[in-house]
Amino acid sequence: MPAKGDTFAEARQRMVQEQIAARGVRDPRVLEAMRSVPRHLFVPDEYREWAYSDGPLPIGVGQTISQPYIVALMTELLEIPPKGARVLEIGTGSGYQTAVLAHLADEVFTIERHAALAAQANARLHRLGLDNVHVRVGDGTLGWPEHAPYDGILVTAAAPEMPPALLEQVRIGGRIVIPIGRRGGQTLECWTRREDDFERQAIIPVAFVPLVGEQGWSAG
Ligand code: SAH
Repeated sequence: MPAKGDTFAEARQRMVQEQIAARGVRDPRVLEAMRSVPRHLFVPDEYREWAYSDGPLPIGVGQTISQPYIVALMTELLEIPPKGARVLEIGTGSGYQTAVLAHLADEVFTIERHAALAAQANARLHRLGLDNVHVRVGDGTLGWPEHAPYDGILVTAAAPEMPPALLEQVRIGGRIVIPIGRRGGQTLECWTRREDDFERQAIIPVAFVPLVGEQGWSAG
């Protein structure tokens, strides 16, 4: 009988092969990060056996941990530079996406509006030794201007439109990956900052929980 840890490790390798590589994610650094982050430690105990299944899962207060493929795709789209990168994430949630980013960037700044989720994610990330992560409770639609400009900004909740504050906090050549659309369904978009404007690219249809804040949806 393999130990429980081995079972999860096997499931994780299968997840990367069958759900992520098979769907076209190629960046070896992203695949490596997805192979190493223990996703089962980021889901509630009662969902642990589904941690490596091909979908989102509930994490409490009406929020979800995203489907593994979507996490990998969004991370690949960010094109994080191999050295010295600083990344901002809006919507820490479980901290899983944060952990994946922490494998690729030098520093990860992440903002969560629910204090309980932020505290739990922070504890998990530090337990895993990911000390390059900074978690803050607040409204991510305003970004985190103190550490700007970022090489990449990743928004893991659905915005009605691009929050203007984020446009100012990404460096030239950097990217913002964000779901934009209605509350029920959105398009995953990738915005690349040029000298004078942004190149805007539509990727795939997605369904995220709402981005709630001053430059997002109102609560309720
Ligand atoms: N990246 C997360 C996904 C969590 S779901 C993961 O891997 O688990 C999206 C999260 O965004 C939720 O936890 C929600 O509370 C949070 N959120 C929504 N609006 C926000 C805002 N304005 N600022 C910060 N976090 C926000």
